[in-house]
Amino acid sequence: MPTPTLIPVTPVPEEPVSCSTCSACCCQLEVMLITDTGVPRRFIDTDDWGGEVMLRLDDGWCAALDRNSMRCTIYEKRPLICREFETGSAECLEERKGISSIYV
Ligand code: SF4
Ligand code: SF4
Repeated sequence: MPTPTLIPVTPVPEEPVSCSTCSACCCQLEVMLITDTGVPRRFIDTDDWGGEVMLRLDDGWCAALDRNSMRCTIYEKRPLICREFETGSAECLEERKGISSIYV
């Protein structure tokens, strides 16, 4: 499979709100692990205060995100915070405004 390329984009439009039109921009946020949902150890990092967070790679996205499909590779074991982040919520819309690059 070819290596995906990161390109800059202008902010995505407000409508329609769909995960497929924003390149998983919320998966660039810091995700704290506040419950044990079975996230594999290799995807866990420690923040400056000793708390467990999802590891993010140099491109800014979560290490558990597939860069080709832009889908979560640990969906059944994803952290509680990811489960509670609703598509179309105020937080979601805010993240969509801030998107600056996507993989193609
Ligand atoms: S939940 Fe919202 S911000 Fe996250 S990928 Fe879906 S549309 Fe984008
Ligand atoms: S665990 Fe999955 S849903 Fe949560 S930030 Fe990472 S890739 Fe996104």
